Amino acid sequence: MTVRAPAKVNLQLAVGPLRDDGYHDLVNVFHAVSLVDEVTAVPADRLEVTVEAAPTARVAIEGVPVDGGNLAVRAALLVAERLGVEPQAALRIRKAIPVAGGMAGGSADAAAALVACARLWDDREDPLLTRDDLLELGAVLGSDVPFALVGGTAVGVGRGERLTPALTRGTFHWVFATADGGLSTPEVYAECDRLRDARGERAPWPEVSQALMTALATGDVKALGAALDNDLQAPALALRPALRRTLATGRDHGAIGALVSGSGPTCAFLAESEEHAGELAAALDGSGVAQSVVRAHGPVPGATII
Ligand code: ATP
Repeated sequence: MTVRAPAKVNLQLAVGPLRDDGYHDLVNVFHAVSLVDEVTAVPADRLEVTVEAAPTARVAIEGVPVDGGNLAVRAALLVAERLGVEPQAALRIRKAIPVAGGMAGGSADAAAALVACARLWDDREDPLLTRDDLLELGAVLGSDVPFALVGGTAVGVGRGERLTPALTRGTFHWVFATADGGLSTPEVYAECDRLRDARGERAPWPEVSQALMTALATGDVKALGAALDNDLQAPALALRPALRRTLATGRDHGAIGALVSGSGPTCAFLAESEEHAGELAAALDGSGVAQSVVRAHGPVPGATII
């Protein structure tokens, strides 16, 4: 049983006030792109996991746990518990999504493992776990996991896990520049709070950008580029100043929009067309500002059995 799940880029990430439970209230406009991890689940005596880089991807997999800390393993355990079966499966994760890159690779693996294990351990025509059950289990695993299940383009509120699909038209072409070493998502949020405190700013209540929704619905790439916005960009740049040059290099080569993806350090560039994405990718690759450069398009579907 092999399932593919996509990376995401946040078209808008509005970070609101810190809640009592330690999370922030967010408006998170997720967009799934054609950069995918693959999880294969096969019957085994016990639960085990291996992680490898996809043959065509230059992903540094060293930071990925191969024990109970792996989100795919946690996903498998949840499914087994809900089905009342022993968690007997060997999971093989093939990663093309950068690790700790702000593209929710771990969440993609969790979503893929939820679907793969649910199918492996329960292959009846009318499965016990519905799609809604998997979404609920996904939300337990992490705020970005439900989106990796549904894919497309969606607005997430709350911690980002309460999703509503967004209307989009056409396909958008992206170039992603990865960086050496990841950024820790909790540290980037903490830096966001620290910068706001230092400026004496109160976090505004997060609101979805109407300009962004219109750009998506009309397929207007220029308007989309102008509407991209990420409140975690300033803290990510504070923690990793070298990313300023990466963003500037993309803009110099005609990127319609350039922003840090999620909590970074991957930078996302919106291209005018597929052809322009090729030119932009070559320019970024040649400039030496990125560890690796990958092209992708979106929106694409969420976790899919292949
Ligand atoms: P997000 O954008 O959701 O904040 P990210 O893309 O920055 O996430 P991930 O690649 O999802 O980061 O991983 C963050 C950390 O989660 C890793 O450093 C690793 O320790 C842990 N982790 C657990 N399971 C996985 C997995 N299957 N793949 C990658 N990282 C995992």
